[in-house]
Amino acid sequence: MFENLSERLGGVFDRLTKQGALSEDDVRAALREVRVALLEADVSLPVARDFVKKVEKQATGQAVTRSVTPGQQVVKIVHDALIEVLRGEGDPGSLKIDNAPAPILMVGLQGSGKTTTTAKLAKRLKDKQGKRVLMASLDTNRPAAMEQLAILGQQIGVDTLPIVKGENAVQIARRAKQQATFGGYDVYMLDTAGRLHIDEVLMDEVQAVRDVATPRETLLVVDGLTGQDAVNVATEFDGKVGITGVVLTRMDGDGRGGAALSMRAVTGKPIRFVGLGEKMDALETFEPERVAGRILGMGDIVALVEKAQETLEAEQMERAMKRFKKGLFNMNDLRGQLDQMLKMGGMQSIMGMMPGMGKYSKAAADAGLDDKMLRRQIALIGSMTKQERAHPEMLQASRKRRIAAGAGLEVAELNQLLKMHRKMADAMKMMGKKGMLKQAMKGMM
Ligand code: GDP
Repeated sequence: MFENLSERLGGVFDRLTKQGALSEDDVRAALREVRVALLEADVSLPVARDFVKKVEKQATGQAVTRSVTPGQQVVKIVHDALIEVLRGEGDPGSLKIDNAPAPILMVGLQGSGKTTTTAKLAKRLKDKQGKRVLMASLDTNRPAAMEQLAILGQQIGVDTLPIVKGENAVQIARRAKQQATFGGYDVYMLDTAGRLHIDEVLMDEVQAVRDVATPRETLLVVDGLTGQDAVNVATEFDGKVGITGVVLTRMDGDGRGGAALSMRAVTGKPIRFVGLGEKMDALETFEPERVAGRILGMGDIVALVEKAQETLEAEQMERAMKRFKKGLFNMNDLRGQLDQMLKMGGMQSIMGMMPGMGKYSKAAADAGLDDKMLRRQIALIGSMTKQERAHPEMLQASRKRRIAAGAGLEVAELNQLLKMHRKMADAMKMMGKKGMLKQAMKGMM
């Protein structure tokens, strides 16, 4: 199995804990691991290389300006960039099948799941859009493939073009078009012959069929478990026949679906559907978020984000604790606590969690200490100078008036804030001495 990305990045982020901020070197180190993870997920080498280069530019710029949660940021940037590359324009599931009968050409290598996908898609169009669909197999070399489509058609209740021995692919395509027109079908699907490898004869045949049918959609079916190969296949088919979209099969397997990224990057064509099993219902519209998560390993992202957050909170807590233990609790500290309280859902719940502060909890409620109040207090602190925040005990009446005015509030409210600050500072000092602080802080963060 794959070594997951979080394990890979573990070492990189462990170093971050000590450094606290994300440097260019860190970005590069993290992205080296991302690149390996992409290759393991079957993304082709040039695509992985380009992708990482693009992300590196974004990540480095951002990390310097916003070093708040470095680990989270790198993962998020990678994840978002993946989605951006994977996402095509418009709704992947909506095919151009107005003007009846609309031809859909299905192309791809033998064994990619082309015939199965043709039937799955026909069923989907019938069930979800109420379309009358006709399917035709053009695989004259493999009578078994033609039979297979007929059997699937019966199974899902979709008509197939009767098999006539001795016809070539172009003749079958013509007959399908005729029958679709006169039979009043909305859509006709042409399941072209596949080969084990790309060859000239195959391409010539598909081109000839395309010229006869002038398809509204030409969907390339690719095995999602193939990596580098998928890129060559897509390049060939798109160059020779011109595709309008891709269907990735076997996305139910162990693979990480990196072929999706390669397909998008190389052809620029949208991925429309993914095959998720052998059953006729196992076809879903492509969702870039899901595939991006899978390429990176969804659990990995969640784990990484959590890890990054824990690291950050632990650091903040550590730093705050050191200060509080020394009896240091100035307005900046208070502001940090107030911000945290807002995030945690209000002052009352926080005070309730703090040993020794429980009795203030009810008092706080009685005094109307709610989020609005918290915001006003934060505004008051914001209106202080650096000096004033460091030494709130030095504030004179004139200064107090200026600060209150700056926040658009009354001096009385500032006095209340100062009183609360003194009480909290005392409580912190006391708890620090009794060794209760750590416990209290844990409750708060
Ligand atoms: P073709 O040669 O390209 O027409 O391939 P087929 O449609 O005959 O499919 C080859 C095999 O792959 C069959 O056994 C299918 O049931 C299987 N298959 C097709 N699509 C999927 C898929 O999305 N998931 C899984 N697990 N198997 C699939």
